[in-house]
This record gives sequence, structure tokens and C-alpha cells, in this order.
Amino acid sequence: MNIQLIQASLTKKLRHLEERLAHVQKDMSKSHSADSSEQAVERENDEVLEGIGQETQSAIQDIRAALVKIDEGSYGNCSECGEAINPERLEALPETGHCVSCAAA
Ligand SMILES: [Zn+2]
Repeated sequence: MNIQLIQASLTKKLRHLEERLAHVQKDMSKSHSADSSEQAVERENDEVLEGIGQETQSAIQDIRAALVKIDEGSYGNCSECGEAINPERLEALPETGHCVSCAAA
């Protein structure tokens, strides 16, 4: 497992997500039109944007936590039980902080 590669790819992913979040927040803060039928559509859009925003925020948190663990040298260990996380799982989901059994619990 190459920690430096993982760190680089997580950092890249984090930047990307932060940009997306900034876009979503900008879209949501746009002023709404006076037309009431358009307002309904805009409200629906806001809900979609809000969902995307929340997902993005939680993904950002996961990645930040993973980067902290890399710094601390505890990356690859489950934050719940401390066991080593399956390398295949880490490869598929590098930002995960939990082993399969703790993630399922
Ligand atoms: Zn665990």
C-alpha cells in the first residue's frame, strides 16, 4: 500500500469536493424569481442542491479524517476497533475509517 499515492489522490478528491460544495452553496444563495410557478421549480432545485450539499459535506469530512489518520500514521486501522482494514476495502474506498464489520454495525 502506497500511502503517498493515497494521500495525493485523497487531497485531489478533497479539492474537487470542496469546489463542488462551493458551487452548490453559490447556486442555493441565488435570489429567486418573482414568478410563482418558477419559484416552485426553484424550491425543488434547492432541495436537490441541499441533498448534494449534505452528501458532499459528509464525503469531505471522511476524507479530512482519513488525511489526519495518514498524518498520525494510523491510516488503514479502523477508528472503531483499531483492527487493520482490509486492503481491498481501502483500495475501493480509500477515505473509509472503518473496517467492514464496524461499518456494517
Ligand atoms: Zn472495526
